Amino acid sequence: MKYTKLVKIIAQKRFLIQLLLGAVTYVAVSYYHVSLWWIFGIGTFVGVIWGKVFCRWMCPIGIMMELLMKLSPNDSLKGMYQYHKMGCPIAWVSGLLNRLSLFKITLNKDTCKNCGLCDKACYMPSIDQQKFSLYKSNKSNPAEAYSCSKCLKCVEQCPNGSLSYRPVFSINQYKNFKK
Ligand code: SF4
Ligand code: SF4
Repeated sequence: MKYTKLVKIIAQKRFLIQLLLGAVTYVAVSYYHVSLWWIFGIGTFVGVIWGKVFCRWMCPIGIMMELLMKLSPNDSLKGMYQYHKMGCPIAWVSGLLNRLSLFKITLNKDTCKNCGLCDKACYMPSIDQQKFSLYKSNKSNPAEAYSCSKCLKCVEQCPNGSLSYRPVFSINQYKNFKK
C-alpha cells in the first residue's frame, strides 16, 4: 500500500516531471545536437521497463500538445486519445511494449469497489465504454492498449489503492493481480 501511495504522489507530479524532462530532451537535441537515434533508443529502452512512458513523461512535443489541449477542455480527452493513437516512431515501438514491459498497471479485484472512477479518469473508456474498462473483466484492458501513455491517472484516481503500477515478473503473477 505504501508503494502504491508513492506511485500516486509521483503521478500527481507527472506534468512537472514532463516539463522538466521535456526541456532536458529539447535542450539535448537543439543545443547539444544529440542524435534523434539516441532519443529513439532511450525511448525504446524505457519502454521495455515501463511501457509507453516517453510520450507523457519525457516528450517536449507531448507537453506542448497537452498545454494546447488544455485550452479547449471539452475536446481535450478526445484530442489526447487521437494524439496518442497517432504518435511517433518512439510511441509506435513503446506502445507495442505496453503488453511486454516489466512494469504493468495491476488490479486487485479483492479491494476494488467497482466505483468506476478509474474508467472516468482514462481517455480510452471515457471515449469508448463498450470496449475498454480497467476493472470490468469482460472488456479490453486500456492499460495494455497501444494508446495507453502511462499517465497513471487511473492509479491516481482509485480511492482504494486497488490499481497500482508495479513490476510484474511473470504472466501468472499478473493473472493473480487481476484474479
Ligand atoms: S495509465 Fe491508466 S489512465 Fe493513463 S492511459 Fe493508461 S490506462 Fe488510461
Ligand atoms: S477506481 Fe479503483 S475501486 Fe474504483 S473501479 Fe477502479 S479499480 Fe475499482
